[in-house]
Amino acid sequence: SATTPTSGRPGPEIPQPGTPLLRLIELRKSFGATAVLRGVSLDVAENEVIALIGASGSGKSTLLRAVNLLEPIDDGQILLDGADISDPRVDANAVRAGIGVVFQHFNLFPHLSVLDNLSLAARHVHGWSRSAAERRSRELLEQVGLLEKEREFPDRLSGGQQQRVALARAIVTEPRLLLLDEITSALDPELVGEVLALVRRLAHTGTTILMATHEMSFARDVADRVAFLDGGVVAELGPAAQVLGAPQHVRTREFLARIS
Ligand code: ADP
Ligand code: MG
Repeated sequence: SATTPTSGRPGPEIPQPGTPLLRLIELRKSFGATAVLRGVSLDVAENEVIALIGASGSGKSTLLRAVNLLEPIDDGQILLDGADISDPRVDANAVRAGIGVVFQHFNLFPHLSVLDNLSLAARHVHGWSRSAAERRSRELLEQVGLLEKEREFPDRLSGGQQQRVALARAIVTEPRLLLLDEITSALDPELVGEVLALVRRLAHTGTTILMATHEMSFARDVADRVAFLDGGVVAELGPAAQVLGAPQHVRTREFLARIS
């Protein structure tokens, strides 16, 4: 049955029903004397969208980089699908291959066409054939409205188009988890909408997303829950409408008043 693991092997590797897809347990991270993460705990359920909000410098990017194993943590645990990916013995590249990431600044390969940007990891990390990788890449380019750009190089695209390509690239191999770090903050205002619309569509198709954002109306609209990072911890966590509309903590209220 669905509640019985298929393997008899005991231990934390076997996800139990209801286990969060991602569990952050008491994460700690300092840079020199600066303690940035001081015991961050957060569970992200499968299919859930969580918006990470907080002041500039509150550690949102550090947290997302830690989850993608780009930033070694000092203490705590990161469980992905029940497996401890913060264990130094894990194969970081294998873990990253199952996580889609889009950062604030465009991270397309400038010397590769749009189509090659999308299909590269599928072919060389996941071992897909060129035809399978390109077929899936073209499907996604069509979905993001950029199929006619497949032969272009990134510098021929607008910032909004580049971020749509970066989002499409992040989901070619259907990662279990998508990490988005302020992906509209470097865009001209008129280009923000097209990128957010795409994230909204991904959210509605059941993609599990942990996203740092400063777009509060977007967070309210798309996120299931909002986590407010302050003082190195998740200072407030709850349904998006509640945290953004009727925050419980004075620090959250101050933050929201400051940015609105
Ligand atoms: P946010 O994304 O919320 O703006 P960051 O995670 O980028 O915050 O940064 C949190 C704090 O950690 C900041 O004080 C920043 O200066 C510091 N920091 C981030 N990365 C490094 C690094 N590689 N070396 C030293 N300090 C860093
Ligand atoms: Mg940041």
